[in-house]
Amino acid sequence: MNPSADSQARLVRTIAEVEQAVGNARSGGRTIGLVPTMGFLHEGHLRLIDRCRELADYVVMSIFVNPLQFGPSEDFEHYPRDLKRDLAAAQQRNVDVVFAPADKELYPGPLAVVIRPRRLADRLCGLSRPGHFEGVLTVVAKLFGIVRPDVSVFGQKDFQQAVLIRRMVTDLNMPVTVEVAPTVREPDGLAMSSRNAYLSNEDRKRASSISRALAAAVAAYSNGERDAQVLREVVQAVLVAAGGLDVEYAEIVSADEMEPVARVDASSVVAVAARVSATRLIDNVILGRPDQGLARLL
Ligand code: AMP
Repeated sequence: MNPSADSQARLVRTIAEVEQAVGNARSGGRTIGLVPTMGFLHEGHLRLIDRCRELADYVVMSIFVNPLQFGPSEDFEHYPRDLKRDLAAAQQRNVDVVFAPADKELYPGPLAVVIRPRRLADRLCGLSRPGHFEGVLTVVAKLFGIVRPDVSVFGQKDFQQAVLIRRMVTDLNMPVTVEVAPTVREPDGLAMSSRNAYLSNEDRKRASSISRALAAAVAAYSNGERDAQVLREVVQAVLVAAGGLDVEYAEIVSADEMEPVARVDASSVVAVAARVSATRLIDNVILGRPDQGLARLL
């Protein structure tokens, strides 16, 4: 079949329907891939689909703005949504089925059991977003239980989330392979995010300093700098020079435990969270392995 440009991926709304679609694919001998998202799709999400297609025969994308992972003063109500546009984009990338449940479908009543991460959630984003990763892990565990994918693809952009999902799968022996795909960026380096839609032109310029700060750290690392404090100062200097950013953290941590390090190596991660006006943005880079978009800034 050759779908026309304006056709849409198959949409299912209920757990029973997605189970049936996946069950049919599985009984036909196909492996199953899952890409969980909150929708308002951009190229970053779509590359996860492309990667998932390489790893699995049948690709499920979920679109669900998960109330459980938003704090009371966060942007759950205002989070951007455009299902029609998302379905067209998913179709273009050959998603087999889009699972977009209503809140009541996934949460028919209060949960008695959730997935609560331990120390790895007590740092970086976890400090300003208490309960956030509990909400993320709980919904991802539910999606894994519903779709039972062989493989699931997540973005490096949400580094702490990816680490926690990997650990959940390991620690709880979930039978799924977790794949982490590189961050996709705008031409000026800004990491793509659904929340970039909130930014004014002025904010947008300031926001691009986050990726420039990460690129500056990579450049210093490439020139031989190994002192984490010096690299942190390099990052801070770019962010301060941009002005108008409220930096929540700019840290250099180990890739597995996300603990601050004194000396860096190729696997150390520089992670930044900052607010531009009311919009909270995050970004990160593995020092020895900058993604293509960031390498272009060097
Ligand atoms: P979200 O819809 O923001 O919850 O993101 C859904 C998935 O897309 C998560 O695994 C994110 O890490 C990933 N993602 C979001 N933005 C990007 C990006 N710019 N590049 C790569 N992956 C991304």
